[in-house]
Amino acid sequence: MSGKRRVAVAGAGVSGLACAYFLKQKAAAAGTEIELRVFEKENRLGGTILTEEREGFVIEGGPDCFLSEKPWARELAQKLGMADRVEGTNEANKGTFILSGGRLHQLPEGIYLMVPTMIRPLLRSSLLSWPAKLRMGLDLFIPPRADGREETLAEFVTRRLGREALEKIAEPLVAGVHAGIPETMSLRASFPRFQKLEDEHGSLIRGMLAARAGRRKTPAPGANSTHTMFLTVREGLGGLIAELSKTFAAEEIVTGDSVTAVRASGAGEYLLTLSSGKSHSAQTLVLASPSYVSARLLSELDPDLARELEAIPYVSTATVSLAFREQDLPRLQGFGLVVPRTEGRRIMAATWTSRKFYNRSPQGFSLIRCFIGGANHPELIEMDDEAMTRMALEELHHIVLLHADPLFARVFRWPRSMPQTVVGHESRMTRIQERLKSHPGLFLTGGAYYGLGIPDCVHQGELVAEQIIESGII
Ligand SMILES: Cc1cc2nc3c(=O)[nH]c(=O)nc-3n(C[C@H](O)[C@H](O)[C@H](O)COP(=O)(O)OP(=O)(O)OC[C@H]3O[C@@H](n4cnc5c(N)ncnc54)[C@H](O)[C@@H]3O)c2cc1C
Repeated sequence: MSGKRRVAVAGAGVSGLACAYFLKQKAAAAGTEIELRVFEKENRLGGTILTEEREGFVIEGGPDCFLSEKPWARELAQKLGMADRVEGTNEANKGTFILSGGRLHQLPEGIYLMVPTMIRPLLRSSLLSWPAKLRMGLDLFIPPRADGREETLAEFVTRRLGREALEKIAEPLVAGVHAGIPETMSLRASFPRFQKLEDEHGSLIRGMLAARAGRRKTPAPGANSTHTMFLTVREGLGGLIAELSKTFAAEEIVTGDSVTAVRASGAGEYLLTLSSGKSHSAQTLVLASPSYVSARLLSELDPDLARELEAIPYVSTATVSLAFREQDLPRLQGFGLVVPRTEGRRIMAATWTSRKFYNRSPQGFSLIRCFIGGANHPELIEMDDEAMTRMALEELHHIVLLHADPLFARVFRWPRSMPQTVVGHESRMTRIQERLKSHPGLFLTGGAYYGLGIPDCVHQGELVAEQIIESGII
């Protein structure tokens, strides 16, 4: 065995790959040599990031974009030399529609996430009742909570903006990002930004207006501008994974081999048992697998830590991408629609993918993607491909009068894929960090801990790489 410090990473989703990438960079900068092994259960890299090209359509199986205001994914793309392939959304088609009372209503202009920042569009909107519009405005006068108690997203939104804003906007738009239930989601852990706005400005509206005034300095969006709320990669997000993977030597990445158990050796090393029957020992171990998998891996080493990890809930989702001839579609507006749970429908959202993004379908064709399952309908992801496609088409038929048969459909299922930051998450994370102190060289990273989105996963990966370097164990 070489004298280099041996580092193992379990899981090659964006979290594990980003952590491994930054670790290599930082170790090289510190003049330290490491022997890296990334073990991935599947035969491909990227975890829930999966892009497929079919007949000129770019199909995203999992995520299709990332938030631009969190800079870390874009910065990583820059470091990987692919900044020119990071693209904004097609602002000419901008707009979100919300199903309410069986009809589609445009989300009023100026509503940012769930907070109104423009009065006139809100007053003119058909989405909300008059009492609801007035109730949202009360946010300007309601004093912030002072007792510091952890609130759910539902409690917070109802208190600040009212019940209708929760049901028609926050639940489908904001909780929809996590496919979660607002009554259980921790506001602080899931959307710290809203808590910060209340803490710093005493009102969400005032806080958003202040933030918007700051943003005015950025150039106005034009075609292919990256000054849009969401960004993607020209060839699909799989392009980010492909570029990341090029930074590793062939022997550093082991696919199709999962870690099945972790034990401590007497010599301060971690002994990994692999599904191939082999074993591997490392002085530094980063578990970037879903938290319930990491729980299983650590059950012998630290049952208390394993119990905390196992307690982080996940929900299951699926996507159905449908390709059409443009001429066969009704006139679709905006980027797509979201469906509040109160509407009782079987899709959570639909994106008009080829209207929202550039380069997603050949000329004259369109791609639509439906988002299915989540906390409210976990049973739906059990359907076979044909039944799920039929269901998605029935829902689109009902909601936007789409009658055409697709040229093809592609279904992706993601069981237990979206971690839920429920009330108590922050204190659970404190206990997890406390337990980790007993295991020098052991680290956790991934969407389950400090933010689910791709930028947060990249950021966490980098922070863990920094911690490893700073701890002096490398
Ligand atoms: C349908 C869907 C849509 C989404 N949309 C967006 C979006 O538009 N924007 C956004 O920012 N985020 C989105 N997300 C969230 C985002 O995709 C994820 O949070 C992020 O990709 C998680 O990355 P990760 O590396 O932490 O986990 P994962 O991608 O789950 O990766 C974990 C990896 O660990 C591997 N693994 C598991 N067990 C083992 C083992 N025992 N040994 C070795 N390897 C193992 C898995 O195979 C996997 O490759 C979406 C998620 C889903 C499911």
